[in-house]
Amino acid sequence: MKYLSTRGGVEPVGFAEAVMMGLATDGGLLVPESLPRIGPESLQEWSKLGFAELACEVMQRFVGDDLSASELQDLVQRSYASFQHPEITPLAQAGERRILELFHGPTAAFKDVALQFLGNLFEHFLARSGEQLNIIGATSGDTGSAAIAGVRGKERIQIFILHPKGRVSPIQERQMTTVLDANVHNLAVRGTFDDAQRIVKALFSDPDFKTRYRLGAVNSINWARILAQTVYYFYAWGRLSGGNPDHRVSFAVPTGNFGDVFAGYLAKRMGLPIERLILATNRNDILTRFVHHGLYSLTEVHHTLSPAMDIQVASNFERYLYYLLDEDAGAVSARVTAMQHDGRIEFSQTEHRRAAADFVAGAVSDADTLDQMRATYRETGYLLCPHTAVGVRAAAAWPEAVCLATAHPAKFNEAVQEAVGLDAPAPACLQGLLHLPTCCEEVAAEDDAVRQHIINTLAKVH
Ligand SMILES: *Cc1c(COP(=O)(O)O)cnc(C)c1O
Repeated sequence: MKYLSTRGGVEPVGFAEAVMMGLATDGGLLVPESLPRIGPESLQEWSKLGFAELACEVMQRFVGDDLSASELQDLVQRSYASFQHPEITPLAQAGERRILELFHGPTAAFKDVALQFLGNLFEHFLARSGEQLNIIGATSGDTGSAAIAGVRGKERIQIFILHPKGRVSPIQERQMTTVLDANVHNLAVRGTFDDAQRIVKALFSDPDFKTRYRLGAVNSINWARILAQTVYYFYAWGRLSGGNPDHRVSFAVPTGNFGDVFAGYLAKRMGLPIERLILATNRNDILTRFVHHGLYSLTEVHHTLSPAMDIQVASNFERYLYYLLDEDAGAVSARVTAMQHDGRIEFSQTEHRRAAADFVAGAVSDADTLDQMRATYRETGYLLCPHTAVGVRAAAAWPEAVCLATAHPAKFNEAVQEAVGLDAPAPACLQGLLHLPTCCEEVAAEDDAVRQHIINTLAKVH
């Protein structure tokens, strides 16, 4: 299996190179040169598999010669051994509503499903090449802890995560700073999340620094993250259909960077009988407006109760664009250029009709998010996190749709308190965090201060 850039400017690369590259060198995103087609017999067989066995079957078709079957099996086993539920991504029930719980990993958010695997992949490929990797990222909460949990203690990897000092929820801050492994470096930036993100961007666009210090990212544009997320769509379908290829399932997906729902779209393209993909956004509704009106246009970012979805430019959207435009990299490049110039992409009627056939979409306000959390709890006793509540609300017209639960409610207790007046019981990974020792360094919100801090730290560890 080879991978190409959505913008056409990269010679085909293998799976390992695609994973290590992250963002394609021409600024595009990497996509497989063709998608495997999963026929009815395979679907039937796969419906009997446990999560890890199924993950091996799905991923096998994408890794080419870069991993042997036993290497892949070992990586998958180790990645999901850290999950607290034997089914990894179990289906739960809230009254009539099916909930696909994706939050049983070490940081209680769905990002663990992909980042536990990505950390092990990085370690494996680095051991093979003898290289080192220094991961740098900025976080307002969820991604930082999942990224740290994915690479803590791994040889050949150092991770630097910047968070805005005092502006991350206490639980989310402790999820990062209580990790004491020597390769984990938490930096509390005296500034806002936007400052932290701007600094990271500045470091990545400094080519000398980037090459000399082998900077890497773990953001949601990495192909391996998408791949890992396709697995639970197959898994949920298998549990609900019993392997009957005529049985179709719909999914509602709380969406920010378009990674999770894109994985569902990919599963559908591979032949999984998906009836409907419900793309759920909060007030940051660029993707909902795209599906409704065929216009992708930027506005400002609003802060909401579902902060992991407070995004305007959805970094995986370009992958969908590639398929919408019939895998024509030239056409993708033209649209991306238009986006950079005008802050908007207009789609033809035919394109819009296709998008509207691929997704239904809904934007949910904070008030309706709280209302949904309250209603589901009153009627069924099931507590939704605010992100999951956005999905459930957007799927109101489709009671049969499976709603993806992207975080444990105990990570968002302020919203839970406001909605239902109690705290969600914390899973083991969130208990006692406030009493554990922490490790974190404070830095000024300046590119040079952070760059120097990273250089000094790396001089000590290498
Ligand atoms: C990241 C995240 C999302 C959004 O997922 P995307 O793949 O970015 O669309 C939704 N909910 C939670 C809790 C998240 O952490």
